[in-house]
Amino acid sequence: MKREELMLACCSDIAGKIRGKAFPLSDFEKRVRRGIGWTPTNVQITCFDAIAESPYGALGDLVLIPDQATRADIDFEDGLPPERFIIGDIRETDGSPWECCTRSILSAALERLADVTGLTLVSAFEHEFHFRDKACPLGSAYTTAGFRTERAFMETLSAVMRDAGIVPDTFMKEYGVDQYEVTMGPSEGLTGADNSIILSEIIRTVAQRYDSAVSFTPLREPAGVGNGVHIHMSFRDTNGNPATYDPAGKHGLSTVSGSFVAGVLKYLDAIVAVTAPSVVSYTRLTPHRWSAAYNNLGFRDREAAVRICPVSDVSDVAKASQYNFEFRAGDAAASPYLQLAAIVHAGVQGIEEGLASPDATQEDLSLLSDQDLSAKGYVRLPQTLEAALERFAANGTVTSWFPGNFADIYVKHKQGEMAFLENMSEAEVCSAYEAAY
Ligand code: GLU
Ligand code: MG
Repeated sequence: MKREELMLACCSDIAGKIRGKAFPLSDFEKRVRRGIGWTPTNVQITCFDAIAESPYGALGDLVLIPDQATRADIDFEDGLPPERFIIGDIRETDGSPWECCTRSILSAALERLADVTGLTLVSAFEHEFHFRDKACPLGSAYTTAGFRTERAFMETLSAVMRDAGIVPDTFMKEYGVDQYEVTMGPSEGLTGADNSIILSEIIRTVAQRYDSAVSFTPLREPAGVGNGVHIHMSFRDTNGNPATYDPAGKHGLSTVSGSFVAGVLKYLDAIVAVTAPSVVSYTRLTPHRWSAAYNNLGFRDREAAVRICPVSDVSDVAKASQYNFEFRAGDAAASPYLQLAAIVHAGVQGIEEGLASPDATQEDLSLLSDQDLSAKGYVRLPQTLEAALERFAANGTVTSWFPGNFADIYVKHKQGEMAFLENMSEAEVCSAYEAAY
């Protein structure tokens, strides 16, 4: 059949969805200059395709300008046309950033980090997902057999990650039913979040080319294992040297990194509405699920909101370059741009407030009484999306990090998402999210 190659110009929105419009590939140069028309109220389309209350109504026009640095041309060499997409920034027609452009919101947060500290953020996103249409044999968690079941998928994925400029890191059969995990090498600035989107898109595409389907939903079933997004972070100074590690600092954190982590933990109960933004996210964020339930720092502890990752003497890489910390209270219902923006703003706030490096917890916080918890300076993270949104909206410092009416629009979007789930059982809510993500 006759075909003309198209390319998708896309963006990541409040629903954590990648939405876009395609144009003929032959128009590429023109589209990079002129962009493609975009509609303001699109930002209120929830993950369930309902439109939440929107201040824009049917009015307004925006332009999505593709950024050439994000162009992905993924040729599977299977006789079918390559997958082609490019991510962009949403601007007003006068060229200024639009208040709900998630990528511009992250750019502003990274600029604030650079202005206050002179540092650049380096990040790498870990993705967990499960196959929806497979039945991996019981007993396959972390096994060679579990890996071999999806070996072809993983090998295609590794090859096309490289083509898309993402460094393949590790691939494994995770603990959950039909659950797998893929990790990537680190990248600087906006590219870390761009790569998160490109990776999740290519995971979906590879699944489709293998006639399969995956879901990144935060929780497949109420008692199941969660799919988390873990974000590894470190800093580089203006000379490109690692600036996160100080062997004399608490747990190896440099002074600036310690204050950054302290800020993330201080504001975590108010930003979790942005980093883990679905209704089912809050069942995942409960004790003993290897996610995060408190605003604590862990030293190599997988039940902490922020974990200091191991550095090893046996590596050929210097410790200062290996050293990083991992944010674990995130999932794929969020836009990676918004996740990282919220984390960076909270971290820079901590630096501006001169917060001291936090202590790492050594105990199971779920065993402490509320009194003991608060005496030690910890809070239990909100236990529902509704409660998380209340903390977000009530924290004037946090809402001030976002431009214009963004905070209010965000809350209205999430209220629209919750309204769709009214009267559903927990299992039905999980199924709805599994289908949506
Ligand atoms: N699946 C867990 C989560 O929901 C994480 C397991 C791990 O440590 O990789 O975040
Ligand atoms: Mg994992």
